[in-house]
Amino acid sequence: LYGPQRPNAKGINLMINSQVEPLLDALKPWDQHLWQGGPLLAQAVTPDLQRQQAVTSPFDASQQVGQIQWATAEQAQAALDAAALAFPRWNAQPVAQRAALLRHVADLLEEHFAELMALCAREAGKQLKDGVAEIREAVDFCRYYANQAEEQMGQARVLPGPTGESNELYLTGKGVFVAISPWNFPVAIFLGQVVAALVAGNTVIAKPAEQTSLVAYRCVELLYQAGVPRDVVQLLPGLGREIGPVLTSDPRVTGVAFTGSTATAQNINLSLAQRHNAPLAALVAETGGQNAMLVDSTALPEQVVADVVESAFASAGQRCSALRVLFLQEDIADKVEDLLAGAMQELQIGDPRDLATDVGPVIDQAARTQLQEHIEHFRQQGRVIAETQLPEAWQQKGQFIAPVAIRLNSLDELETERFGPILHILRYRATEIDQVIESINRCGYGLTFGIQSRNESFAAYIDQRIRVGNVYINRNMIGAVVGVQPFGGMGLSGTGPKAGGPHYLLRFVTERTRTINT
Ligand code: GLU
Repeated sequence: LYGPQRPNAKGINLMINSQVEPLLDALKPWDQHLWQGGPLLAQAVTPDLQRQQAVTSPFDASQQVGQIQWATAEQAQAALDAAALAFPRWNAQPVAQRAALLRHVADLLEEHFAELMALCAREAGKQLKDGVAEIREAVDFCRYYANQAEEQMGQARVLPGPTGESNELYLTGKGVFVAISPWNFPVAIFLGQVVAALVAGNTVIAKPAEQTSLVAYRCVELLYQAGVPRDVVQLLPGLGREIGPVLTSDPRVTGVAFTGSTATAQNINLSLAQRHNAPLAALVAETGGQNAMLVDSTALPEQVVADVVESAFASAGQRCSALRVLFLQEDIADKVEDLLAGAMQELQIGDPRDLATDVGPVIDQAARTQLQEHIEHFRQQGRVIAETQLPEAWQQKGQFIAPVAIRLNSLDELETERFGPILHILRYRATEIDQVIESINRCGYGLTFGIQSRNESFAAYIDQRIRVGNVYINRNMIGAVVGVQPFGGMGLSGTGPKAGGPHYLLRFVTERTRTINT
């Protein structure tokens, strides 16, 4: 399953019939399946019907996906006890053994791809295309971090010193890590955080997003199946406001890996900092963005539109990397907007399991309501300039938001990130380019940025001045590949280090120097 040149998983090509048909056959048995999940702790948990929640599909509220049992605050305490106890044993294992477990997990993910894709579609509303990418990314994270851990932790670095003394520097696990993950990449980001912490020698308590707890449950079962001990990784599905503070205020926690909103990252930081007699914990936070793409008059309009549609509307705009604000140089703006309006009319909204679907649902009712309010605010001012029609059949059934393009007068009109298929468009004059860059930098986020221009020195000029983590020139700006486009932002968008990059594991370890008088 490795590609010829790159060590990334190949996935499934949905353009090729001979690959699509077996996929659809493999998905079929999971179409009506009902999953059961709950806390996974060092000790088996007795089922508690009182704490069971029904899980339904974002694309069809009448579709049952299964039942999930929420964890309690006491279970969170028990998980912390077990994780703290298990740490020295796990950390003492040779890194090669932990890396081997990750590679086994990668193989199991590939083996169980159909079930995991079905869960991604039914629980998270993910389209098949995104489901394929999701499993690939998770597999890549496992293999990439396994390789990185062996490379970086396999051997102590011998350092020069005076005669009669040996000096070496080595990396070792930090302790108990908490992984708090989002619903938009319920397998890839969930597992990426967990396996990075694990392979580095930490024990892990994972708190998945409420909306995607069943798929997280299956992922942790696969970790156990691969041989990761139960006390080394534990799962606490539940309400963030109940479970989160128990974990982040505990003095035994030595690090938190978090992907979600900037406000939650700040709360976690505060909670970690306010602990008494506790380690200064590591926080790896990957948060939101107000991602822009800048198009100058030399850009190719057809390519711009294809890349904009993909960046803004794929995955129903529910990626941190997604394009939110398109800056069009005025000489090219009419042409791009015309082509874009046409392209948006062609988009198909619907069941994420249908191959013809371009845009699936947003995650839940609350997300839909917020997005609708934002759109209505601009619609009343006559500033919706293009949109896709939402077929009647889907209007009541699920949480759908039709892609929409909105005219903005200034970036200041956007206070927060809108996590859905909403594209904002601003026009600029060539002479205003420095103010445009300044306005984007001033908003404080710094995740992804796109440049469309056939003028290389112009692209380089922008690239040097824009303060973001990932710049994409003349292509779409989503779908970073592990080991190829290490992903993560700066400022309000995150702490770094980048996921899928060579420095990621360094935040999960402690450096130690050993000096021996020989
Ligand atoms: N890594 C993903 C991408 O490049 C985005 C991750 C996220 O949404 O958190 O599209």
